[in-house]
Amino acid sequence: MIRKLFTAAIVSLCIIALAEGVAIGGGLIVLARESEGNGASSVKLGLVSGRLDLVRHDIEELESDKTALNAEYNTLLEEIIGPYSEIISMVEDIRGLSADELIPVYPMTRAELAVYLENDMAENYPPDEIAIDEKCLKALGLLNADASLSEILLGSSTDSYAGFYVPSENKLYIITEDNEVSWYEKYIFAHEYEHFLQDQNWGIDTTQDTFDEDNSDQYLAYTALVEGDSMLTETQFLVRLALYHNDDFVALQEEIANLDYSDSGYGYTMPDYWYDSMYFPYSTGMDFVGALKKNGGWEAVNNAFDAPPVSTEQIIHPEKYFGNDAPVELVKEDRSSSIGVGWALIDQDVLGELYTTYVLWTGNSTADAEDAAAGWDGDRVQFYEDESGDMVVLWESYWDTETDQDEFVDAVNNFLDDIGYYGTTNVADDGKVTVIYGQKEGVGVLATVLF
Ligand SMILES: [Zn+2]
Repeated sequence: MIRKLFTAAIVSLCIIALAEGVAIGGGLIVLARESEGNGASSVKLGLVSGRLDLVRHDIEELESDKTALNAEYNTLLEEIIGPYSEIISMVEDIRGLSADELIPVYPMTRAELAVYLENDMAENYPPDEIAIDEKCLKALGLLNADASLSEILLGSSTDSYAGFYVPSENKLYIITEDNEVSWYEKYIFAHEYEHFLQDQNWGIDTTQDTFDEDNSDQYLAYTALVEGDSMLTETQFLVRLALYHNDDFVALQEEIANLDYSDSGYGYTMPDYWYDSMYFPYSTGMDFVGALKKNGGWEAVNNAFDAPPVSTEQIIHPEKYFGNDAPVELVKEDRSSSIGVGWALIDQDVLGELYTTYVLWTGNSTADAEDAAAGWDGDRVQFYEDESGDMVVLWESYWDTETDQDEFVDAVNNFLDDIGYYGTTNVADDGKVTVIYGQKEGVGVLATVLF
């Protein structure tokens, strides 16, 4: 269910978070080289949108090999064979990865992009699937009753796209209105080129093909690894630019300061959780990849592509990834016959720690929701519908400790009180928490057959 939202928006069409940041809420990109006073300096990079903290990266570790790199980079600059070749060399050098083939780069105007996105949506996200997702998101309290999912999807302005890599096409698109390659476009390219390297070395598509289709949480965790790696790579790229070629860095800063996102359609129709979930792979994903790198260098990041994180819990708490805390997998059993005649299972998914947090935003403060979702140890949510269009939601979960379980039960009861559905909660002897709710008052009776 939810995975569709990500594949449509991010996995196959990789948006640059920084560009989104400019678009959303009219924030600004802060990109500055700062002196820390003691001879060290750091590059500050972030979004002033009220949603992301500034991300700081010390450049001390790079200072040591500055001389060697400087010589190498200057040689590369002299050997430019195309507008992106020096960026390719820099990114490959930063990541210690290479590709077997040349990257196919396709420039695309915004008008062409709009057509591309429309076709992509028509092909990969048909109206009947959108209709089911809309119902399920509403049943989770993630969309208002009168919201239209297709309107929200279409409302995503193309202004937020700066470039994207499409694994299934093996093509990289850079959004540009002219034939000049600006520093900003090169900077976007650095991020996207890392996606190409990921795909060349590990196969983004082939990796995702091994995932459970009814587990959005796993897809989202993988997206966070993919985007987090590209974000950390582009940050290191900026650091090197600032260190070795400050003139180019200043030119890039000026270009970014002059970007015009005044026509952006973001900020009007999207629900709060939507922004947060779009940022997640970039922001929390970068923290996760940063934790990997701190633990074992780029090699640890590379190893993670061989053994990807399986849940957003592992992204939010990297120690759970290091500690191999694998979630409980709940059975995908169709219980419609227990619910009654005329009921059908229309969709099911794993919400994971992240989406559990979003669901608990209804009826709880954001801080309480976050606390209650922590300690998640696996879940499955199923959506049943009858002929009249009434919904019943069956949500089962396991928790790390009894305290985590109690916190979740309290928070989910607040959610049920607030969302206006009839529902009930049960904790089984083995610790499984079952939440069942729906629009009809008699839904509680179902609990007797389903708990
Ligand atoms: Zn990306």
